[in-house]
Amino acid sequence: MTKCDVTIVGAGPYGISAAAHLRTIKGLEVRVFGEPMSFWDRNMPAGMFLRSNWTATQIADPHGALTLEAFMAASGNRIQQPVPLHSFVQYGLWYQRQAVPGLEQRKITRIESGAPGFRVILEDGEVIQSRRVVVAAGIRSFAWRPPEFGNLPSTLASHTCEHSDLATFAGKQVLVIGGGQSALESAALLHEAGAHAEVVAKSHTIHWLQGTLSKTLHSRLGPFVRRLLYAPTDVGPAGLSQLLARPDLLKYLPRGLKNKLWMRAIRPAGARWLVDRLRDVPIRLGRSVVSVTVVGDRVKVRLDDGSERTADHVLLGTGYRVDIAKYEFLAPKLVQSIRRVQGYPQLRRGLETSMDGFHILGAPACWSFGPLLQFVSGTHYASRALTGCIAGKDVMQLEKQQHHESPAYSHS
Ligand SMILES: Cc1cc2nc3c(=O)[nH]c(=O)nc-3n(C[C@H](O)[C@H](O)[C@H](O)COP(=O)(O)OP(=O)(O)OC[C@H]3O[C@@H](n4cnc5c(N)ncnc54)[C@H](O)[C@@H]3O)c2cc1C
Repeated sequence: MTKCDVTIVGAGPYGISAAAHLRTIKGLEVRVFGEPMSFWDRNMPAGMFLRSNWTATQIADPHGALTLEAFMAASGNRIQQPVPLHSFVQYGLWYQRQAVPGLEQRKITRIESGAPGFRVILEDGEVIQSRRVVVAAGIRSFAWRPPEFGNLPSTLASHTCEHSDLATFAGKQVLVIGGGQSALESAALLHEAGAHAEVVAKSHTIHWLQGTLSKTLHSRLGPFVRRLLYAPTDVGPAGLSQLLARPDLLKYLPRGLKNKLWMRAIRPAGARWLVDRLRDVPIRLGRSVVSVTVVGDRVKVRLDDGSERTADHVLLGTGYRVDIAKYEFLAPKLVQSIRRVQGYPQLRRGLETSMDGFHILGAPACWSFGPLLQFVSGTHYASRALTGCIAGKDVMQLEKQQHHESPAYSHS
C-alpha cells in the first residue's frame, strides 16, 4: 500500500485545474487519476461547438498563464468562436501536459473510508491510503434515460452521451427527444450528416439564447454596462450572472430563491447559431412520449397527441440527473455517510462533504454553490476554494511532518 495526501479522481477541466492549484502547496503529495478530457472527446458529438463564450471557456490555473490565447500561441492554431469541441479538447490536453504532467491514466475502481483518510483502489489492484480525496468525475454516470426507453437496446435508443460521431446515422430516421442545447445541436448535426431527424420536446417553446434583448445588453450598451450585467463566467441572464458568479454570496439566499435562480440559469435553451441549421428539421413542441414499442428492427413512438412515429433510432437528449450514489467507484457505505439532498452532497467551505477530507467538485456541487459549478468557468471558484481549504487545514500537519523529514516548507 502506498500513501499520499490528496487523490484526485478525474482529469476533466475540474480535475486538472484542481491538481494545478493544489500543486502550489509545497510538500503536499497530490496524485491525479483519469483519462484527460475523455468526456469531451468520447461523449460529445464531433462537430459540436461550445455554448459558453470565450472567457467562460478558460480552465482556471493558479498563475493565469494557461489560457486559450496562450494555447493558440504555443500550438500555432487559431481558435474560432464559438469554440469548436475539437479545439477545446486540444486545449484541455495541452493544459494537462503543462500543469499536470504526472497524471496517471488509470481508473479508480473503489474508494472506501479507511480511517484515518480513505482507501483508494485502482483497476490494477494498487491500493493507496489517501488523507484526502477530491472527486471530479463529471456527469457521465448521471445520464438520464426516461423510463419509457428503459428496456430498449442501445441499438434502438441511446443517450446523446453515448455518441462521438452522429454521422453513423446517415440515411436513418432518428427521433431526438429533448429541447435543450444537446438535443438541438445533435438534431442539426444529424441533419447535416444526412439523417432524417425530428425533434420532440415537452416544452412549449424553445428558448434561444442571445436574443434581441441579450444582444442589446451585450454589445450595444457598451463594455461598462456589459461588465456590470454579465460576469465573465457566462452563467445566467443579465444581472443574475453577477450573483451566480459569486457562490459565497449566493449561499446567504434562502433555499427556495436559490433553487429558482438555479432553474432559471440552466433552463433548456439553444444557442442562436443553431436556428438556421435547424430550419429544415421538424420540431414538435409541447409533446410527451406515452408509449414505445419495438417493431422489427425499428422503434414506434406514440406521442400524447395520439400521433405516432416509426424511427430507426431514438436519441435521448434528456440531460443528466445528479446522484452521487451512481458513481460506481464510491463504496455504498461511504455514500451513506455523506449528507445528501436529492442525490447532491451538502458541501461546506472548500467543497468538502460532511465527511472530513472528502471533496466533490463539478455538477454535484451545484446544490451547495449554484449552477456555476457545472460549467468550465466554475473551475476558477472551485480550485481556489479547495486549495484555500486544504492549505489552511493541512499546513500545521504538513509542517509537523516536514519538521521531522526536511526543513523546507512553504505555501506559495
Ligand atoms: C453536450 C454537452 C455540452 C457541454 N457544453 C459546455 C460548454 O459549452 N461550456 C461549459 O462550461 N460546459 C459545458 N458542458 C458541461 C461540461 O460537462 C462540464 O463543464 C465539464 O465537463 C465539467 O468538467 P468535469 O471535470 O467536472 O467533468 P468531465 O469533463 O466529465 O471529466 C470527468 C473526468 O473524470 C474521469 N473519471 C470518471 N470516473 C473515473 C474513475 N473511476 N477513475 C478515474 N477517472 C475517472 C474521466 O475520465 C474524466 O477525465 C457541456 C456538457 C455536455 C454534456
